[in-house]
Amino acid sequence: MRHRGPPPTSFAVFLSTLRKREEAAALAVHWRVLESVGIANDKAVRKMTPVELGERLCAAFESYLACFPKSALDLEHLVLLVRGLEQADTIALSRCNHCEAVTLADLLEARRRLCSHCQGMADAAVPTEPRNSFSGIGEASQQELF
Ligand SMILES: [Zn+2]
Repeated sequence: MRHRGPPPTSFAVFLSTLRKREEAAALAVHWRVLESVGIANDKAVRKMTPVELGERLCAAFESYLACFPKSALDLEHLVLLVRGLEQADTIALSRCNHCEAVTLADLLEARRRLCSHCQGMADAAVPTEPRNSFSGIGEASQQELF
């Protein structure tokens, strides 16, 4: 099913789930690798024409799809991702603070940057409060005012 309508404009799509965050990181790595190969093959350092940029984006996305055929991301997401990585004010490639895996970082987020695997383990390790934990607190804290 091909995406219809306007292209995505918010980086939130990459950060909405751990899976999409990891898919976006993998897509960004494909872009960076193929972009650097293209730059290395250019004899003269020059700015890419729009056609060359489009060809490299297509090559990076085809390479990504060969590795991740069931990905929820499409070519328009790659265009948005590349723009976000070049602006470097909202998203960036980063490393997991625990295992050093490459991950997509939300630069506006204050919490530790973890990959999906480490985040899942951290979430599982946090003990959950019982649902009625507030019932005992209310009884103990209610005292006479005078
Ligand atoms: Zn990790």
